[in-house]
Amino acid sequence: MVRPRKIPLRKCVACQEMKPKKELIRVVRTPDEAVLIDLTGKKAGRGAYLCGKVECFRLAKKSRALDRALKQTVGTEIYDQLAQDFIAVEDEWGAGKDEMDDDEEA
Ligand SMILES: [Zn+2]
Repeated sequence: MVRPRKIPLRKCVACQEMKPKKELIRVVRTPDEAVLIDLTGKKAGRGAYLCGKVECFRLAKKSRALDRALKQTVGTEIYDQLAQDFIAVEDEWGAGKDEMDDDEEA
């Protein structure tokens, strides 16, 4: 039985879409100013959410959405690192989703 319940929604800082929290990746700025992907959703710090899609990481980099959301300058190397970390965890995190559009290079 699936009964509807209130699903907490969060906004992706890149594409601005509202989505259920569990479909989003939390990026957190830790108290010591590191910016990391937080798969547990429980790390302390200021959080920002991104869709579990590489495009949104790219979009966030392009628009510097995380800088604004985290109120901190996020270096391009951090964006790249996050994108890589994300790709590394994507399989386990996004198991069951099939998005294969990796060949659109901007
Ligand atoms: Zn998004």
